[in-house]
Amino acid sequence: MSKNHTEIWDACLKVIKDNIALQAYKTWFEPIIPVRLDSNILTIQVPSHFFYEWLEEHYITLLKKVIKKEIGHEARLEYSIVMENSDRNTKPYTVKLPTSDKNSLKNEPMNMPINLGDNPIRNPFIIPGLKKVDVDSNLNPSYSFENFVEGDCNRLARSAGFAVANKPGGTAFNPLLIYGGVGLGKTHLAHAIGIEIKKQNPNKTVLYVGSEKFAHQFIDAIKNQTTNDFIHFYQMIDVLIIDDVQFFAGKEKTQDVFFHIFNHLHQNNKQIILTSDKPPVEMQGMEQRLLSRFKWGLSADLTTPDLETRIAILQKKMYSNGIELPDEVVEYLAYSVNTNIREMEGAFTSLLAQASLNKKAITLDLAKQMIDKFVKNTAREVSIDYIQKIVCDYFDLSIDMLKSKTRKREVVQARQISMFFSKKMTKSSLASIGAQCGGKDHATVLHACRTVINLAETDKQFKGYLEDLEKKLTLQ
Ligand code: ADP
Ligand code: MG
Repeated sequence: MSKNHTEIWDACLKVIKDNIALQAYKTWFEPIIPVRLDSNILTIQVPSHFFYEWLEEHYITLLKKVIKKEIGHEARLEYSIVMENSDRNTKPYTVKLPTSDKNSLKNEPMNMPINLGDNPIRNPFIIPGLKKVDVDSNLNPSYSFENFVEGDCNRLARSAGFAVANKPGGTAFNPLLIYGGVGLGKTHLAHAIGIEIKKQNPNKTVLYVGSEKFAHQFIDAIKNQTTNDFIHFYQMIDVLIIDDVQFFAGKEKTQDVFFHIFNHLHQNNKQIILTSDKPPVEMQGMEQRLLSRFKWGLSADLTTPDLETRIAILQKKMYSNGIELPDEVVEYLAYSVNTNIREMEGAFTSLLAQASLNKKAITLDLAKQMIDKFVKNTAREVSIDYIQKIVCDYFDLSIDMLKSKTRKREVVQARQISMFFSKKMTKSSLASIGAQCGGKDHATVLHACRTVINLAETDKQFKGYLEDLEKKLTLQ
């Protein structure tokens, strides 16, 4: 009845696919070839050493989990690496690299539950709450304030977070609720606050927990009749960070128990930090009494970062990874992926992977190809920023000039062309295009579009400009 290596690996892939972004899955898991299974040791072949390191650094928790689930507790993973820098007579050589064990735990992305045993939720709360237990904070050291780039999009949330970090439980921001769309930095900021508190107060018990994990622990506690231990455990925390509380929606019992924990902590001036994808007023399926508690403190939102902030985030990421990229590539990435930061980082990571796989330098061309492949068919829309940048580069004008009130002919023309492409290639309204083009109204934008269309019909040179620009904008 036992499965062979391919079947085992297929089963692992299924779970992995459900747990990570599709793009990451394609980049890091599709190229893996299962090689063999010797008793408990599964060997997988990866394309490069870089690949192996990346897997170990970012996905080892998940890998361990799924492999143990498939093969059993004694399971081990080994990598076979295809020789890099190989010439003609390529021979894949096999290096057995046992997955680093305990030591690598500290490098693991902490927002993944680390439960490898069969009996996953043996949580510390079996220890009665009286004793001060050493609680693992579950904080990911790389999600620090130092690594969190400040911008208009996060200024309030960041400074509120910083205030809380310096005086946990001692500000009016209790609870602090950070809300915003997916991939905008809620989890990162929540960790940053926890890390800073722990740094300043090593003795405080700080706990980061995803709301999903919290809910599962609670269900387990009910099953095992240990709800009291569960409650005690949470009530002795000094700083409780619960990520994605919107997940509690519709879960009455979980909300109930959380309500009690919340009250206890709040009364004792313990700090509570929550994140959510919506502001409290828009949370459906949440009990009123809980919502009103959420409003006691401060709700601060994170919005989509502007271009400069996106570039700064990429630069920071490159710096901390010890990677250098040409400015044009960084700008291009930041211009093109404007939905959220996680997606931008995903594109960045895929770019590194592509370059490493194909042993190519990261050029603008490679970046364009990659973005085409990974981003365009998902959510990519050329941004107005990007259109303006391309048009300005083409006519050798500054963006400030384009957005100014100047009536100079060549500037007016460039302005009208960028409005025209903004209308054609984005979903923005005339009014918002006007607003982003130096505060013009919708009628001006409409007029610009008509002028451009008319001119293109009569003026060959002008038509040529449009064609050139369109090519640049659609990356051909
Ligand atoms: P959310 O929890 O809102 O979905 P995350 O906190 O997981 O988003 O952020 C997604 C990614 O973007 C993370 O890798 C995070 O480090 C990064 N990120 C978000 N905001 C910033 C920022 N201001 N500076 C640097 N990195 C950021
Ligand atoms: Mg998150």
